[in-house]
Amino acid sequence: MITVMKFGGTSVGSPDALRRAVNIIINEKNDKAVVVSAMSGVTNFLVGAVDDPPSNRDEIVRQFEKKHLDAAAQVLEGEYMDGFMKEFEVRMSKFRELIDSAEARKDPYYRDNVTSQGERFSSLLLAHMLRAAGVRAAALTSEDCGITAEGKPLSGSADLQRTEAQMAINVKPYIRDGGVPVITGFYGVKDGYPLTFGRGGSDYSAAVVANALNADVLEIWTDVDGFMSADPRIVPDALLIDEMSFGEAAELAYFGAKVLHPRTIEPVRMKHIPLKVKNSFRPDVPGTVIHHLRKPTKGLLKSVAMKTDLSIISIESAEIAFYPDIVGRIIGKIAENEVVIYSISTSLSTVAFLVHSNDIKAVLNNLNTLSTGDIERIEVKNNVALICAVGDDLLARCGVSGDIFMAVKEARANVEMISEGASDVSLNFVVPMSKVTDVITMLHRKYVRGDQ
Ligand code: ASP
Ligand code: MG
Repeated sequence: MITVMKFGGTSVGSPDALRRAVNIIINEKNDKAVVVSAMSGVTNFLVGAVDDPPSNRDEIVRQFEKKHLDAAAQVLEGEYMDGFMKEFEVRMSKFRELIDSAEARKDPYYRDNVTSQGERFSSLLLAHMLRAAGVRAAALTSEDCGITAEGKPLSGSADLQRTEAQMAINVKPYIRDGGVPVITGFYGVKDGYPLTFGRGGSDYSAAVVANALNADVLEIWTDVDGFMSADPRIVPDALLIDEMSFGEAAELAYFGAKVLHPRTIEPVRMKHIPLKVKNSFRPDVPGTVIHHLRKPTKGLLKSVAMKTDLSIISIESAEIAFYPDIVGRIIGKIAENEVVIYSISTSLSTVAFLVHSNDIKAVLNNLNTLSTGDIERIEVKNNVALICAVGDDLLARCGVSGDIFMAVKEARANVEMISEGASDVSLNFVVPMSKVTDVITMLHRKYVRGDQ
């Protein structure tokens, strides 16, 4: 049995947090691999530093070094501190070289390289603390493991097959011999360069490692108890969800709940590896288990999430129904700037898209480059939000939309757009921002808690 345990930034963010992580790891009886984020604040610091003028380089290196040395001084001593310092100095001199090098700045993956440095140091701290606690542990970088990435700078994806093949050679034997690798999250390697998986990507890294090792369970140790039935800032009596399906978790992670990076689900779903979300500050709380099993819940819905600050852009063209390729061209234009489309709805002569309000300018600019005649009119409606009602098997149940929209009516909200049928675990619709709280509160009371 192999457990992959991932610790997020706050779960390794201070000497106390690091000690808690060590205890949690020691208490795990299975064979295990650990994946870590950078200490909290470190990646933000590096993102801020990457464009700094050369005159600031010494200060960047000084602050980065101090952050990790201060932590080490509080958690390590004697021979374990010496062991740590040996590796620390090697990694630190590479860091200094990277920050100092004018040549490296020209490299397309320079930002990925700088911003992924934090993980190399948090993993070192944790590995040496584990050693001090009597565990055979080693800090391994994504390069050491062979976590292989593909894609563009700052938004890589893992090549799961290559990674599995590499880790079978580089990491599995070590685990089989009783070792605990402490692996850097957040990035993989493309053509010898670090390529990051996007902000918050260590969760995804952990799922990639679990997939590659054919782990029996993936545990994401974070700073919340698990997935909630609604954002507790909006719904104070929101409940902790004890279990849900991969599909439900993926929808929730994508639309609102900031518990997991949404890409975390796929690599474990593919291999039927259950995923547990646990709070490293309260390890006794059972957390949320995400797996293939489905069982009926008390209410119709498991959770109600939302995405705010969105806009609807409606594009009118009499010809849409008769020239289907126009829709394709419009989508192509919107996607040119990698704008995320949250929902699409079409009629005879209009197609409406839901996008983030920050993207509207870019979308309009791109649409302007379409040939005249394709579009007759464009309308933008700002200040709307997407509500995502998540529950098991919603599509197959009769009357679900009727019930949900009745509650929306009771909350006196106008529905601006609807998307149903794309997924069997969620019903998404758009309401004005001013009504979001009322709608979520109403849906939660009626269909999550079940008090009609
Ligand atoms: N350290 C990276 C970030 O802050 C990755 C992560 O924490 O998941 O984005
Ligand atoms: Mg995170």
